[in-house]
Amino acid sequence: MNNVFSWPEIIRKLLWRPVTIAGAFIILALYVSSVYNYLLFHSIAELFSIIVAFAIFIIIWNSRRFLDNNYFIAIGIAYFFIGGLDLVHTLAYSGMGVFPEYGANLPTQLWISARYLQAISLLIAPFFIGRRIKSNTMFFGYALVISLILTSIFYWDIFPASFIENSGLTPFKKISEYIISVILLASIFVMYRKRREFDAKVLRLLFGAIILTICAELAFTFYVSVYGLSNLIGHFLKIISFYLIYKAIVETTIVKPFNLLFRNLKHSEEQYQDLYEEAPNAYFSVGIDGRIRQANRRATELFGFSRYELVGRPIFDLYADTPNGKVKAQGFFKGFLDGEEIHNEELEMRRADGSKLWANLSVRPIFDKEGRVVASRSEVLDITEYKQAEEEINRLAKFPSENPNSVLRIARNGTILYANKASSILLNKWKRKVGQKLPEDWQELISEVLDTGLIKNTEVGWRNHIYSLDFAPIVEEGYINVYGLDITERKQADERIKQQKQLLEITLESLTHPFYVVNADNYIIEIANSAAGMSEKTADVKCYELTHKSGKPCSGTRHLCPLKEVKKSKKAVTVEHIHYSVDGKKMNVEVHGFPVLDKEGNVMLMITYYLDITERKQLDQLKDEFIGLVSHELRSPLTVITGAVNTVLAEGSRLSAEETHQLLLDASHEADSLAGLLNNLLELSRAQAGRLFIRAELVNLRKMLRDSVEEIRRQSSAHRFVLEIPGKLPDVTADKLRLERILNNLLENAVKYSPDGGEIRVSVKLEKERLVISVSDQGIGISKIDQAKLFKPFQRLEDARIHSTKGLGLGLLVCQRLVESHGGQIWVESKHGQGSTFFFTLPLGKQ
Ligand code: ADP
Repeated sequence: MNNVFSWPEIIRKLLWRPVTIAGAFIILALYVSSVYNYLLFHSIAELFSIIVAFAIFIIIWNSRRFLDNNYFIAIGIAYFFIGGLDLVHTLAYSGMGVFPEYGANLPTQLWISARYLQAISLLIAPFFIGRRIKSNTMFFGYALVISLILTSIFYWDIFPASFIENSGLTPFKKISEYIISVILLASIFVMYRKRREFDAKVLRLLFGAIILTICAELAFTFYVSVYGLSNLIGHFLKIISFYLIYKAIVETTIVKPFNLLFRNLKHSEEQYQDLYEEAPNAYFSVGIDGRIRQANRRATELFGFSRYELVGRPIFDLYADTPNGKVKAQGFFKGFLDGEEIHNEELEMRRADGSKLWANLSVRPIFDKEGRVVASRSEVLDITEYKQAEEEINRLAKFPSENPNSVLRIARNGTILYANKASSILLNKWKRKVGQKLPEDWQELISEVLDTGLIKNTEVGWRNHIYSLDFAPIVEEGYINVYGLDITERKQADERIKQQKQLLEITLESLTHPFYVVNADNYIIEIANSAAGMSEKTADVKCYELTHKSGKPCSGTRHLCPLKEVKKSKKAVTVEHIHYSVDGKKMNVEVHGFPVLDKEGNVMLMITYYLDITERKQLDQLKDEFIGLVSHELRSPLTVITGAVNTVLAEGSRLSAEETHQLLLDASHEADSLAGLLNNLLELSRAQAGRLFIRAELVNLRKMLRDSVEEIRRQSSAHRFVLEIPGKLPDVTADKLRLERILNNLLENAVKYSPDGGEIRVSVKLEKERLVISVSDQGIGISKIDQAKLFKPFQRLEDARIHSTKGLGLGLLVCQRLVESHGGQIWVESKHGQGSTFFFTLPLGKQ
């Protein structure tokens, strides 16, 4: 409501407008004229509203095609006829003398009919909004109504009387004024309902006009004389009302559309300004003096100058001092002065900070009316990135041609599209040139690669060279890139490495000692020979798992871990360990570890081998035992000898001859045993040193055997000795003393290891080429297992230890060496607990 009926605002506006002031003057002038001559006043007042009414019509009629609101068309046409009626009314006014016979009734009738027409038109006009009504039809409609009114007044004379001379206005006239006022009020109501169809200002004007018309009507009801005051006010109000209608019409048909037009124009101008300012490209306007006149925001951003710095600056300041920059630009500038346009030229420009940029430049000269160049419009596109990319692409494009390896491109149909210099060898092999097709046999490969989309490698040989060719499909493009590499040297190197590897493997395998390489970080065995006992299954095995069957590395001082030691010293180390063979046998080993260092000098690998020193260890142990044993064996006879000799020396006079003899006999006996022992040791050391020489002579074996048995019989009365010699026995060539030593050793053993006595039989058997001499007893015997150990040094069997403390475990060994040095053999046959028979042979004949 407020925006429609903002009265204070309307009044304020109305009062201060030049037109209002002018209107006030007019009204004042009219008033003055009314005082002077009321008829003149009336005529001018009416004429004024008539002119306004016709002006309304003319404006509307001529702009009806642009009006989308039919209300105004209806009003325009209505006001034409209202004006017409008012004109007739003015002419018929008392005193005008146009219609002298009609009196004052005629102008009043015309007046009231004009007001009816006006009020009804204002009421019905809103109903035309949104209806399709032809203005011509409407015009003729109104013309018809007017004709009827005029005919009813002038011809038929049926129009109700409105003024009667001497009695004044008729009730019809008065009531009509009220009816008209009501119609007008109704029209306000109707218009208010359709207010959305109107501009607020226009609506206010229309409402104002209608209200003033109502006021005017009411004023007219009061007058008694056509020259009265209320008549005067009524006319003033009518003028204002018509003026407001006119204003509303002008507002709608002229002011608003033009405003709209200007607003659109302004808007588009702003848009263009905005476009120019915010354009993504830099724009300049350059004068013919070469100075910048205008620059948009992008230009300031691109070149790093403020607008203030840019405007007035010579455009050449923005070019780089290069042939592609200033020089080229100056050339273009001359062309521009001659009116030439420049399109998409690439130039090197320069920013405020001196950095270069590549620009795409377009210049369009601007001409004045006479066709002279006055300025330019220049557009600058920053193409630095594009240029860089282009350069990069160019550089990249050189890649294949500069590649020392072959690069080719093959089309699906096998045509060689491209081949770099290095491909000439391949082209020679194929006897092809670029543009020709590859040989037939390559076609299949090409289709396959393109179909599968997978890179395929193949090797070709050509003149002692081997080439590896990678066929890489570019499926989307439908061609193949071929990358070739001369792999001859690599192949040869591979071959060499393979051979070296084989050599290494063979070397490793040839080593009978376990040999392996351990990773210093994780103890894992990297390489091992089969002597190390590592099967395929145990690959990845750790050294301690393999050699110790243990779950963790060795530790402690007794069992030093060679790897730890090698890491510590970074030198070769040797440690003694106890290892377990694959079959679980425990062995004493000597582990040798050798470090392999990396560049920083850290231990990377350890090369290891170990030696089985079990035997040596045992031997060492035996030797230790032997020394103890020898000392013991030497001391006991010596004690007996010294004891006996000392007794004889000290107690000589008091001893009987027999006692003395016995003591000396004991001493002699022990001395013999000592001599025997020493002899054995001597023989053995000779044998060890390889200096066991036989002093061969003819030996009467029979005699020798008898003597030896006799000798032993003297020492042991508990045994029965039997000598079995064939009747005919040849003499043998032998070292007599050594032969006796053999026999003695065997006989002594037979006595020693037959603690319960029994028979001891010495037999000689004559075979074809040898003599077999045997000594058998009925003693403790030797188990099968022990028999194997018999002829080894320092071997004393468990049973022997129980039965005799004497003995070094050397006798049999000496026997063996002596027999062998005679070219014979020695062996034993025995059953545990049932006696033993020792045999030895002496070769016959050849001696
Ligand atoms: P020893 O000095 O201990 O007799 P030998 O070399 O003569 O050393 O003998 C080695 C071992 O052989 C003896 O310790 C004994 O165990 C066993 N041995 C030798 N001869 C006999 C035998 N006739 N009967 C049983 N055991 C024997």
